[in-house]
Amino acid sequence: MTESFLSKVRVRFAPSPTGSLHIGGLRTALFNYFFARRRGGAFVLRIEDTDRARFVREAEHNILSGLEWAGIQPDEGPDRPGDFGPYRQSERRVMYARYARQLLDEGHAYYAFDTPEEIEAMRKRFATEENPSPKYDAVTRGEMTNSLGLSGEEVRRRIDRKDAHVVRLKADPGGRITFHDRIRGRVSFSTGGVDDQILIKSDGMPTYHLANVVDDREMGITHVIRGEEWLPSTPKHLLLYQAFGWEPPEMAHMPLIMNPGGKGKLSKRHAEKQGLPVTVEQCREAGYEPEAVVNFLTLLGWNPGDDRELFSVDEMAELFSLDRIGGGGVQFDVNKLNWFNQQYVRGFSVDELLERAAPWLRDRRSASGVGFLENEERQRRMAALMQPRITFSKDLAEAGGYFFEDPATYDEVAVKKRWKADSAALLSAYASRLGDASVFDAAQAEAMLRAFAEERGAGAGRIIHPVRLAVSGVPGGPSLFEMMAVLGKDTCVRRIRRAVEVLG
Ligand code: GLU
Repeated sequence: MTESFLSKVRVRFAPSPTGSLHIGGLRTALFNYFFARRRGGAFVLRIEDTDRARFVREAEHNILSGLEWAGIQPDEGPDRPGDFGPYRQSERRVMYARYARQLLDEGHAYYAFDTPEEIEAMRKRFATEENPSPKYDAVTRGEMTNSLGLSGEEVRRRIDRKDAHVVRLKADPGGRITFHDRIRGRVSFSTGGVDDQILIKSDGMPTYHLANVVDDREMGITHVIRGEEWLPSTPKHLLLYQAFGWEPPEMAHMPLIMNPGGKGKLSKRHAEKQGLPVTVEQCREAGYEPEAVVNFLTLLGWNPGDDRELFSVDEMAELFSLDRIGGGGVQFDVNKLNWFNQQYVRGFSVDELLERAAPWLRDRRSASGVGFLENEERQRRMAALMQPRITFSKDLAEAGGYFFEDPATYDEVAVKKRWKADSAALLSAYASRLGDASVFDAAQAEAMLRAFAEERGAGAGRIIHPVRLAVSGVPGGPSLFEMMAVLGKDTCVRRIRRAVEVLG
């Protein structure tokens, strides 16, 4: 390794491909990405796929497309090879074996041949009241079947015979591991609680710990920014750095994302029960805009130092610093996420909004057949009208459903309240008047309705409310006259006549 790249900031997002990309994982990726951009460094994607039992084939694709959706592009990764590849751990096995060999040769590691039953028996044998579950460590290793006690010849014989074995780190007892975490400050662990961790498993694969440390070293990683759930692994990693005689990278453990209400780490079960979107895929399917999710996640832990809340990716990258991340858990508040979404949706240009809503509008088009969506001009007017009233771009297709189809039902509560004994008579006369109009814009529709109401000696509300119900089927929504202008005269007349028929 040369000095020049050691001084350049290099960070990594190192997910295990075991399923969907969780929003906690996306937040880790974002913080690493922002940090790299702020410091002019590199953001590396490394796939930690050594746990073959939990490996899921589609997961890597899922991770890549999740990052792409969020708008962050790794500088190096499996599909963007740089100088530090390969970027999948399963393709780096030779390297782990070489480093394990080094530790074995230097007396920092040893072979262990114990079966799970033998380890279980050891635990029973050594269990005391203070220590009910003894570990494979400095106290017990002397009682076990490993290369520390067996002759070199015997060890060779067993390995040649392909006896199941692992490689363990020979951890020194009775010390303390202290390090400075960039988020939590000074962190100290007693090595009394650290076992002789396995480095190479019986299937020949490295453990997460060995592979993680070797790769961070080999890939020139300068800062490890990851979730707090990895903090307990850090002493193991630091012991490994010590054994290799390497300087560890800087560490930063980000606060946990907690369940709403603050009880415990955000769990899949809790999220499912509450219908919260906790994977990137779920966010996408629920219609969240990526900018909103990114903004929301970044503020789950990081703060800009003032009370601004809306940031573009560029701004976040510009302002990001580890010093502004708090240590305490942060709650997942879906209302806040919705608020962010609403802010972004309202800030889009009409064309952008239509583009975001396109998949949902497309579904609507095939369902409706009214032809409304073929008319671009009307579509744009509809989008502009709805924009201040919606939270999701898909609401254009959903909440604004009456733009595409005549209402099939009328809101019952509103009918009770607004449809009076004289409504049918008033509306059918009004429909005829409307039918005769030559021009039809919002101002004209309004003037016409008000003149009509006056003629009839009725308050305008007596006509406005039932007309809204007739035209849209629901009580709320954008300005009635704007809505009518977008729908067009013929549609309005048809709908009013139909409501008169149905509601009587
Ligand atoms: N493979 C670990 C994960 O799934 C990486 C943890 C780390 O960043 O060290 O999150």
